[in-house]
Amino acid sequence: MSIQPDTQLHTCQELLAAIAPTGESRVITDPATGEVVATAPVHTADDLDAAVAAARAAQPGWAALSHAERSEYLNKAADAVEASAEALAELLSREQGKPLNGPNARFEVGACAAWLRATASFELEPEVVVDDGETRAEVHYRPLGVVGAIGPWNWPMMISVWQIAPSLRMGNTVVVKPSEYTPLSVLALGAVLNQVLPKDLLHVVSGGRDVGERISAHLGIDKIMFTGSTATGKAIIRSSADTVKRLTLELGGNDAGILLDDVDPKAIAQDLFWGAFINTGQTCAALKRLYVPDSIYDQVCDALVEVAEQMPMGVGLDENNVLGPLQNKAQFNIVARLVEAAKASGARVLIGGNPDESQPGYFYPTTLVADIDNDNPLVAEEQFGPALPIIRYSTVDEAVQMANGLDVGLGASVWSADPAKARQVAARIEAGTVWINKHGAVDPRIPFGGAKQSGYGLEFGVAGLKGLGTPQVING
Ligand code: NAD
Repeated sequence: MSIQPDTQLHTCQELLAAIAPTGESRVITDPATGEVVATAPVHTADDLDAAVAAARAAQPGWAALSHAERSEYLNKAADAVEASAEALAELLSREQGKPLNGPNARFEVGACAAWLRATASFELEPEVVVDDGETRAEVHYRPLGVVGAIGPWNWPMMISVWQIAPSLRMGNTVVVKPSEYTPLSVLALGAVLNQVLPKDLLHVVSGGRDVGERISAHLGIDKIMFTGSTATGKAIIRSSADTVKRLTLELGGNDAGILLDDVDPKAIAQDLFWGAFINTGQTCAALKRLYVPDSIYDQVCDALVEVAEQMPMGVGLDENNVLGPLQNKAQFNIVARLVEAAKASGARVLIGGNPDESQPGYFYPTTLVADIDNDNPLVAEEQFGPALPIIRYSTVDEAVQMANGLDVGLGASVWSADPAKARQVAARIEAGTVWINKHGAVDPRIPFGGAKQSGYGLEFGVAGLKGLGTPQVING
């Protein structure tokens, strides 16, 4: 894709014109209405090879710049995102389904700029590990080469920036493969960034799983930054083995939230709600299983229903809405199947659970399910949608055991009026992040990554930068 530096990218139409396919293409529809958004290019294996070759050729020149010079480009990239912010948010809303308003499309575009700026600001000095008069040993982080970035459809722009920004900052070049469900958002983001980045540092190759597989095995790619399902993460481990690629894997989660018995249900209900329902539940580190002690169970259920009733769901471009559709029919079917399984087991649906499939769009209503067993599929499987199971517990030991009972461990949360008590419980939970009195709050300064089958490697902060470098010891 070649964008002229003076191209205006300030409206959705201008973005779509800049990324219009020249070869094979595919129609992308709005998950809220079924209307056509645009056609997206379907790139071929040859396109991928050409992108990798161009990225390899550009990499040494980019790596030769200083951290300060590369950071300056990241700040310019943030400026470019801000200049096109409303157009990007509109396109994201139409393609992904998430509303403009609330913690959704505008919020996501804002996060792209914030992550670019934060990633530009971190200090990364060589580490002196021994300096005893006889030996001086330093650890430096050198660029890896070309990074392949493979992403999901839930936060397509923000997650692409999480992969692109540290890669570039460390002197690598990048080939991004967006999800086949949300290629337009990432192609448009790439076009905006490429207005200010030197030529050939960043390529977006739009295609399906086959392109992802080819990236994972590609001889010209040194590292994969992958965010997506655990099943695909395992496939990438296998296909990248022959080239011993470095991997950062941000995989699926099924985050538990544990309420201790001293919380005020009404006071925390809104934060609990958004912890679970941000992006209509289609968030890796959303609260997906809520554990509540017997003593406050009914109050918590009532408080959550009261909040849920006030949150409008609908078409993303309507400013009134804060919840949207599922992004695709396959995900709608997963949520519907899991809620049906809960109903069949005798669990109690407090609100929702009754999608109106006569209407256009993959809307699944906000659903809260009480009196559900811990081994029910709605608890044990990742729903990745707007259906929260609320599980009763008697002792904290029992709650911790249930929280740790799955093979994934991305995030978790503990809620208590006494933060010291919450921290003691947090230390017993098997998850990459445990939040206290909040859930899912990611921050560009704070490392983020999964435990167990939620993946390995860290993103964000200085730890994230190190993951995009190859450590080199200078021992003299
Ligand atoms: P997915 O695994 O189906 O697809 C992700 C990407 O991988 C897509 O671009 C897809 O084309 C590509 N892909 C598919 N097969 C491939 C293969 N064999 N080799 C290489 N690439 C391949 O995931 P999804 O449905 O898009 O996203 C939802 C999942 O992502 C959920 O499980 C969610 O929890 C997880 N997720 C995790 C994080 C995190 O930070 N841990 C963030 C967001 C989403």
